[in-house]
Amino acid sequence: MSSTIGYAAFDPSTPLAPYSFSRRAVGPNDVQIEILYCGVCHSDLHTARNEWNNTLYPSVPGHEIVGRVTAVGESISGFKVGDIAGVGCLVDSCQSCASCGEGLEQYCENGFVGTYNGPAFGGGENTFGGYSDNIVVDQKFVLRISHTEDNLAAVAPLLCAGITTYSPLRQWKVGPGQKVGVVGLGGLGHMAVKIANAMGAHVVLFTTSPDKKEDALRLGASEVVVSKNKDEMAAHLNSFDFILNTVAAPHNLDAFLSLLKRDATMTLVGAPASPHPSPSVFGLIFKRRRLAGSLIGGIAETQEMLDFCAEHSIVSDIEMIDIQNINEAYERMLKSDVKYRFVIDMASLKSA
Ligand code: NAP
Ligand code: ZN
Repeated sequence: MSSTIGYAAFDPSTPLAPYSFSRRAVGPNDVQIEILYCGVCHSDLHTARNEWNNTLYPSVPGHEIVGRVTAVGESISGFKVGDIAGVGCLVDSCQSCASCGEGLEQYCENGFVGTYNGPAFGGGENTFGGYSDNIVVDQKFVLRISHTEDNLAAVAPLLCAGITTYSPLRQWKVGPGQKVGVVGLGGLGHMAVKIANAMGAHVVLFTTSPDKKEDALRLGASEVVVSKNKDEMAAHLNSFDFILNTVAAPHNLDAFLSLLKRDATMTLVGAPASPHPSPSVFGLIFKRRRLAGSLIGGIAETQEMLDFCAEHSIVSDIEMIDIQNINEAYERMLKSDVKYRFVIDMASLKSA
């Protein structure tokens, strides 16, 4: 057992505060990591405030972890002390169901174990995430980082925002010659713009924040549409091969479904606390359009994404914060005021 300090939510409405707990002893297949940086995902906020009605308290959020290996178990060959390593949203799965067999641990039929909040839905022991100074993880769920060490804080958000957007972009075979929409320019959305652009697509960014227009173009969008402007939206009717919707709040999906070509798909990755208004059946059936969903990504695909991003020099655009400012960061995230991911400098925990 090793003593750990972190920041936790203790109930849905009180600000996060320092919390001490223990990590398990390093087992034969475990890697212990000193956490250097942890990104702040909107899912952390949903969980801290029990917006999905499944939070186990105390809750230590954080699943965009980059750090340095400080110990390895006796059976470990892939990592050694001093290596830079990453941990994303998953720390365990059954390893025996069909999904795990296909490397789709996020769809484990017996329920994966989240990096925080334990088994995603249903009973089981709580787990504590990356708003802390160290973590102990089975090597199967530890990622190799091939980015250079000079900008590791900006690599951390790839572990969730990166893979959550990369996976559906790959699944729906986004590439050159395609017109691809990204809805929402937050943590996930800005990664989607960068990755879809690197995959060769023509990227159109939809935003509710007109002041993000220039940034979207700089990040790799070819066009920007202010989604509240009906004329701007109408100019794109029936024209998209694929749309990735990252919005964290309920909204009218029909406005975007009507922009899809025949047989094209809009995939939701945003996970609002309350449902979207139902889409119009007619908007779907007349053009055989599809509405889909996607959850993070498996471990092999997360490694593929990290290597892809290193090769294309893709990192996140970040604003570094001290852990003491996490509650203020959550409030700013709710106002869509994040450019484009908060990352906690975990050195700040030492003064917590
Ligand atoms: P974020 O940084 O807060 O970004 C969300 C963006 O959505 C905002 O920046 C804003 O972009 C847009 N938005 C917010 N409120 C809106 C509204 N009322 N109407 C329209 N647009 C609105 O959040 P994130 O970390 O990217 O996460 C986004 C969502 O994905 C969250 O619900 C999160 O829990 C979920 N998520 C899902 C998965 C998965 O596996 N499926 C993984 C990670 C996160 P503009 O200012 O450009 O409009
Ligand atoms: Zn996340």
